Amino acid sequence: MATRLSAADFAHFGKKLRDREAQLREEVRESRERARREPFSRLASEAPDQEDASLAQVVVDLNSADIERDLNELHDIEEALGRIAAGTYGICLRCGEPIDRERLEAAPAAKYDRLHQELEERERGGRGMPTL
Ligand SMILES: [Zn+2]
Repeated sequence: MATRLSAADFAHFGKKLRDREAQLREEVRESRERARREPFSRLASEAPDQEDASLAQVVVDLNSADIERDLNELHDIEEALGRIAAGTYGICLRCGEPIDRERLEAAPAAKYDRLHQELEERERGGRGMPTL
């Protein structure tokens, strides 16, 4: 049975979250810069007809997928920081039980304990799982 977190733990995980947040913001900034500089302008100017313009769009979308993933993680981190401020950090949002400490060390923005994380992923259509 996991124990509730102390004030020192809150400070520890708060720092981890803010470090990760800073790193992600940097990644998003770099991806945006790369997207502006490279694929679209190059491909679009080499082949300005309709078909290749949509190829350029695909490249841009791939880059946006990276940015979107980072932005989603940033969103989760902000929520986790909010839970630290509210004193509810480290508690599963579905059952209210404490989340394992080692799980929080590995994923400080975790919203659920192991069981409910799995349920959540299954309900969302199990990203990354075989569909056939
Ligand atoms: Zn739970």
